Amino acid sequence: MKEENIVDILDYDRAHLWHPYTSMENPLPVYPVASAHGAYIELEDGRRLIDGMSSWWCAVHGYNHPVLNRAAKEQLDRMSHVMFGGLTHRPAVELAHRLVAMAPEGLEKVFYCDSGSVAVEVAVKMALQYMYTTGRPARNRLATIRSGYHGDTWHAMSVCDPVTGMHSIFSGRLPVQYFVERPSVRVGEAWRDADFEPMARLIEERHGELAAVIVEPVVQGAGGMWFYHPEYLRRLREYCDRYDVLLIADEIATGFGRTGRMFASEWAGVVPDIMCVGKAITGGYMSFAAVLATGRVAHGISHGEPGAFMHGPTFMGNPLACAVACASLDLLCADSLLPRIGQIEAALRRLLAPAAGLPGVADVRVLGAIGVIEMREPVDMADIQRRFVAEGIWVRPFGRLVYIMPPYIITDEELEALAGALVRVVEAL
Ligand code: PMP
Repeated sequence: MKEENIVDILDYDRAHLWHPYTSMENPLPVYPVASAHGAYIELEDGRRLIDGMSSWWCAVHGYNHPVLNRAAKEQLDRMSHVMFGGLTHRPAVELAHRLVAMAPEGLEKVFYCDSGSVAVEVAVKMALQYMYTTGRPARNRLATIRSGYHGDTWHAMSVCDPVTGMHSIFSGRLPVQYFVERPSVRVGEAWRDADFEPMARLIEERHGELAAVIVEPVVQGAGGMWFYHPEYLRRLREYCDRYDVLLIADEIATGFGRTGRMFASEWAGVVPDIMCVGKAITGGYMSFAAVLATGRVAHGISHGEPGAFMHGPTFMGNPLACAVACASLDLLCADSLLPRIGQIEAALRRLLAPAAGLPGVADVRVLGAIGVIEMREPVDMADIQRRFVAEGIWVRPFGRLVYIMPPYIITDEELEALAGALVRVVEAL
């Protein structure tokens, strides 16, 4: 593209387009992208960046994948959309088949949603409706752990970390939920019973008000990139069972291999009552998510007034998204997937280790295909982003957290180049 056209795009973008989490009037810089292939994002000016973000956890197969492209094109020629009220179609049914087969045993009822945040809204609404239909309408609040992130819609926001999740701006209007400290025992450390105490006490004392506890299993993503001990989740399952509180697992970021297991709940051998999935299911092609529930939850909702789950968006079960999701899950089901994530994990541990000794670095941690460098101070986003682009990599930190979660198809050489450049930038800050 000619230089003056790039300037036109940027001028118009700056004047009219809102980008995520930045000012409309004085925004952080953006980089115009012309195309993306495999593990590379190609800028309009011809530079190629190795992708360290999988476009916020979703483009796990890399960009422009031939199998996903074919699935989308073939479905497009049949139909891109029909309503899901009163109609069904093969892509929706085939996708449900795959999801139920892959998910922890017992999650067998599938609800399709437009995005991750909507999936969280749907999960919360299911929990509240379940308590209502089973004669416990006073159980209408949620409990969660600090440092979580569950999306930007209303109920999802109410369970995001109260500080980083901007509760103060909406205080008095957001539903008020219960929070306990985030677990402090890390994956791989020796478990300490005291870690679960705050949650145990909350459930003991407040179960009469609680519909559900919602957590990101083992890996807290956008709220803090924190990896906690799976024993926490096992205890949580026990307490939820004992006090008849539902357990919602938000696997939107962790699901489909990212942590080294197909679902992060598997680290604890736990089956949630309701599970949200998104991101990787889409292969990075179009917005889509799903909520899986147990037969008990579906039965409870279906056998009370009004006899149906009260949700049904226009694009529910969109055939195009379902067809691509089927292809995405087929790729994810390859026997080679989890071993490859294990190799990525080992490489990330080796390649990011040198950062641990740097003066500005507080912590380096790796789990599955996620590598985190936690800085002592928040980074200057515009500056660090410029440095990453100059090094030929795409990484988007937030606050003190500089992290990568590359597409699973990244080669060893690309991973080495990505992590090497990352450490060089952090070292030069
Ligand atoms: N839950 C988790 C754990 C997430 O990481 C995200 C997205 N970062 C969401 C929910 C919201 O998903 P979406 O952005 O698709 O609405």
